Amino acid sequence: MINQEKNRAKPKFILRDNLGKLAKFLRLLGYDAVLYPKISFHNVLRIAAKDRRIILTRSPKESKQTSKYRIILIKSVFYEKQLEELKGIIEFKEDYFATRCSLCNRILEPAKAEFVKEKVPKYVFENNKDFFVCKKCGKIYWQGSHFDDIKEKLIKIL
Ligand SMILES: [Zn+2]
Repeated sequence: MINQEKNRAKPKFILRDNLGKLAKFLRLLGYDAVLYPKISFHNVLRIAAKDRRIILTRSPKESKQTSKYRIILIKSVFYEKQLEELKGIIEFKEDYFATRCSLCNRILEPAKAEFVKEKVPKYVFENNKDFFVCKKCGKIYWQGSHFDDIKEKLIKIL
């Protein structure tokens, strides 16, 4: 029950295809963020209404359309600034961080050591115990030092 309520409070997004990097970072923060390349804005509105998603666009024209759900005009071209523009709507939460595949938006699942052994470099395997896998694209995740840098950066921005 508590989890359901948490999910309900967490906004979901649909992004225009020139916001690919922002989508990746929203997923890294644990947000459900979809992006369908080359679809019409009409279809974006349709999906947003169906899935209750906030629309993120860089087009002032699109941002003025009427929609059942919120449309936010993203002004910057830099993802750091774009994330900053979403302050107040999104936040950094340790519990959510790196729970979703940054490539395809799927929730990650814990992966057994024997499953990842042949798939990651030896030193990575030997120095980490928790691995996660995206069941859609097969990408394997672990909390390496690269994640600490990104995490720190995101905390600072948000
Ligand atoms: Zn994936």
